[in-house]
Amino acid sequence: MKKVYLDHNATTPVHPEVVDVMIPYLKEEWGNPSSIHWAGRGPRKAVEEGREKVADLLNCDVSEVIFTSSGSEGDNLAIKGVLEANRGKGNHIITTKVEHPAVYGTCKALEKIGYKVTFLDVDGDGMIDLDQLRSAITSETVLISVMYANNETGVIFPIKEIAGIAREHKVTFHTDAVQGIGKVPIDVKDLNVDILTLSGHKFYAPKGVGAVYLKRGVRIQPLIQGGHHERNRRAGTENVAGIVGLGKACEIARRDMERENEHLTRLRGKLEKGVQERIPFVRIHGQNAKRIPNTSNIGFNFVEGESILLNLDMKGIAASSGSACTSGTLEPSHVLVAMGIPLEELHGSVRFSLGRDNVDDDIDLVLNELPPLVERLRSMSPLYSAATGKGVDINFDTVCKH
Ligand SMILES: *Cc1c(COP(=O)(O)O)cnc(C)c1O
Repeated sequence: MKKVYLDHNATTPVHPEVVDVMIPYLKEEWGNPSSIHWAGRGPRKAVEEGREKVADLLNCDVSEVIFTSSGSEGDNLAIKGVLEANRGKGNHIITTKVEHPAVYGTCKALEKIGYKVTFLDVDGDGMIDLDQLRSAITSETVLISVMYANNETGVIFPIKEIAGIAREHKVTFHTDAVQGIGKVPIDVKDLNVDILTLSGHKFYAPKGVGAVYLKRGVRIQPLIQGGHHERNRRAGTENVAGIVGLGKACEIARRDMERENEHLTRLRGKLEKGVQERIPFVRIHGQNAKRIPNTSNIGFNFVEGESILLNLDMKGIAASSGSACTSGTLEPSHVLVAMGIPLEELHGSVRFSLGRDNVDDDIDLVLNELPPLVERLRSMSPLYSAATGKGVDINFDTVCKH
């Protein structure tokens, strides 16, 4: 069976060129970069070359790049590090209702231990209101954290404007750019952000490596304490092979981004047009907003997104939904809830996230498989038969099917 992977926002395959440059650092150059003897020299040089490549992609200085283990660690470092460094100055954070759990969950946890958090609303297109942001800022506000691009819908936030507002009020600004890096050009100097998070495995580097851009002069307290690694900002012996891979992925992103974007924009357009032509009662979430070119979140009214995903999987097609299947109940995506998507549509969303290896045939397969599949699932939905007069009136049990 042909396998089609349309879940690149969850993780990407490691680019073959990335694998190639990593292998020597697993086989021969296995030394500790902190060692002063011969075994440390090669790895140390490799870490610094990796740092240069990350800095080149972001347009920053090498001293402003901190390597981490993941996007989640970077987000935690940014948020908790800023709060800790600003103890006594204030305890208020502003973020949005649509952040990735790495930010959203962290802010929820901080709320439980006494911090004040404002979660900004979004409109039906997933966009925040900058006036609401302005009026949320108080003398207690020490951090604004707004993601660059949403992992579920692909919607891009006006980061440069938000950074400007934060600057006006002298508040530190962090952006989780995990879904933007490698997909769209991101220049930290132009955006004027203070802290930015990225993660390797979302753009063809391996899992377990990421980085934080920390603007010179911005104060944070380290999350992981110990040795003097990363200029005392993140202890732990460096993931040398991972850093080499991350650097290569940054270099490839710079080289291929423009061509890749044209390719992804065309394929996504084909997917969305095809779905809208062939299937009634669908809605593309965030369609009117600016989006990263690879992501399409499609709501299918009268069906469970999970049922669609299981059926697509049986045809070799991997996609995902925003819903988390927790303790036997399907919780709707907090992102779609925040966008005010009506209840009857909340559970019927599927996220297709495309990547560099996808081809026209992949989209054709989806466009062939999806319409009959959705029609069959709808034929079992009493809501669908009530709304359209089609289908049968049977009891459709909406339990968690994982
Ligand atoms: C995947 C993701 C993260 C978490 O990154 P990990 O490296 O998997 O920890 C954070 N933010 C966004 C927007 C993401 O998509």
